[in-house]
Amino acid sequence: MDVTFWGVRGSIPSPGPGTVRYGGNTACVSVRLPNDELIILDCGTGARNLGISLLAGPFGKGKGSATLLLSHAHWDHIQGFPFFGPFYVPGNRFTVYGGRSGERLLEDVLERQMAAQFFPVQSFRNMGARIEMRALGEDKDVQVGCATIRAHANPHGATPALAFRIEAGGKALAFASDAGYGSGGPPQAAVDLYHGVDLLIHDSTFTPEDRALRLERGLSSLEDAVDCAARAGVKRLALFHYDQDYTDHDVDELVARGRRRLEEHAATGIEVIGAAEGLTVSL
Ligand SMILES: [Zn+2]
Repeated sequence: MDVTFWGVRGSIPSPGPGTVRYGGNTACVSVRLPNDELIILDCGTGARNLGISLLAGPFGKGKGSATLLLSHAHWDHIQGFPFFGPFYVPGNRFTVYGGRSGERLLEDVLERQMAAQFFPVQSFRNMGARIEMRALGEDKDVQVGCATIRAHANPHGATPALAFRIEAGGKALAFASDAGYGSGGPPQAAVDLYHGVDLLIHDSTFTPEDRALRLERGLSSLEDAVDCAARAGVKRLALFHYDQDYTDHDVDELVARGRRRLEEHAATGIEVIGAAEGLTVSL
């Protein structure tokens, strides 16, 4: 399973000289399964560059298909949707899974950002590809191609955000963006979802000090991410969804602090990396 980061930033794109190394695009990760099937995790602005790369292959000829898992519908997780090139090629097929607030709701939310006041195409039904929306049940296994997928809703301010576990070919990945755990830290159900994965991609928006000042945003600090990784016994942790105001230097500091905290946990067998645009992790 090859996991590639196309956008690693939270809340709003943040291009500029201070974010060149980790990148300024918002959340989007592609997962290439062993049988070549494609799963896309979230559709922030990083999806634009993913789309460009996919158009060089079958998606450019209308022969592509992929599954999109949406953690939730905040801007930084859906703004790449109207700019994802393969959606405009007739013949391509996509299944979009989101939370179970009702199938209509997911469709309505995505349609609303395509309305004429926001975007000239006016409807994703005008985009060309076949796009099917489905609700994903929580805490039960769903088979998607050769992958087994399980979703669990983490608290995220006023709305939940789905975290996903993907297993295929004897490897496991967990993706937990936008997780605002309560004062007791990550609940056991979340830790269970991440248990023993080869790679945990986890919300690490803030330093603990900055998180304490912004609790209402429902996001994690790097310590929340590290504590999850240690409790779940994962093999590798990728910090993800950095605050838009953090520079590359600030993210370097997050990664260094994450490594020190794992030493405090005596969990030094876990590798910590900072997710960066263009980085591929092979499991
Ligand atoms: Zn977000």
